[in-house]
Amino acid sequence: TAKLIKGTEIREQILEEIAEEVKQIKEKHNKVPGLVTILVGENPASVSYVTLKIKTADRLGYKEIQDNQPEDISEADLLALIDKYNKDDEIHGILVQLPLPKHINEKKILNAIDPDKDVDGFHPVNVGRLMIGGSEVKYAPCTPAGIQEMIVRGGVETSGAEVVVVGRSNIVGKPIAMMMCQKGEGANSTVTIVHTRTKDLAAHCKRADILIVAAGVPGLVKPEWIKPGACVIDVGVNRVGEKVSEKTGKTIAILRGDVDFDAAKEIAGSITPVPGGVGPMTITMLMKNTLNSLKYQLGLK
Ligand code: NAD
Repeated sequence: TAKLIKGTEIREQILEEIAEEVKQIKEKHNKVPGLVTILVGENPASVSYVTLKIKTADRLGYKEIQDNQPEDISEADLLALIDKYNKDDEIHGILVQLPLPKHINEKKILNAIDPDKDVDGFHPVNVGRLMIGGSEVKYAPCTPAGIQEMIVRGGVETSGAEVVVVGRSNIVGKPIAMMMCQKGEGANSTVTIVHTRTKDLAAHCKRADILIVAAGVPGLVKPEWIKPGACVIDVGVNRVGEKVSEKTGKTIAILRGDVDFDAAKEIAGSITPVPGGVGPMTITMLMKNTLNSLKYQLGLK
């Protein structure tokens, strides 16, 4: 059976490393990373994402501001708010929780965030920096950064490896593909991107030493598509039903990945579970990006 690459464990390692660094920077420079999350309206999923981000930031000793705005805030007022945080020296990361209400132009809002505080890594400037690679990169987008971290900490050789990425979204597929083919540690791979128009998905997947699946289709990748010994990173998070939690008694979603996990783990060399795999890495990397923003400000990076 495959070795499990657990996001929950790697998260704890990285959060400990971050907490230690935060402590040292605070002692030497009397500064802590500052993160603001801007939430417009009360979409329950958005509320729970923001709460989780704030809780993690709190645990690490960050200054955190949860800025909740009414559903009917105007675009101009939201832009003014972003401008305020852009100019605030104690704020190192600005997050605008998506989706935004229909009367607000999402692109306009995201593009108004100072690229140097865009810890999500979605601003075109940061997308461009990612493409150039190397020391140009300030903030890699959080889910792809988490995937790369898992591959490296999972002890998987990436140099010269055949990497196949299933999915071409701007938040996962395209950036992780770009990151894996760059020069450097945890990269130097030969990358193929496959998607809905790809002719023979199975044939491509079968060649992969590292198979990264971000399609959002439960069980898309069949065990016979996996090369024996390959590293399988399952990014998919699909709600396939509901159950009552044994711990809390509350109704929770049953989550499945894009890979048929039970069968795949008998063939792969290493694999990430769902839940508990890539999921926990995203917020972790968000915290790391926010710490890095402070380090750039202090000239430590
Ligand atoms: P998306 O819908 O934007 O993109 C999916 C991509 O997969 C598309 O490019 C599409 O071409 C490709 N695809 C879809 N069906 C396919 C098929 N049958 N064959 C081949 N290619 C196919 O999704 P996304 O935002 O990239 O997210 C993908 C999955 O990852 C989702 O399940 C999402 O919930 C999950 N996700 C998890 C995290 C996390 O764990 N932190 C973060 C982001 C996304």
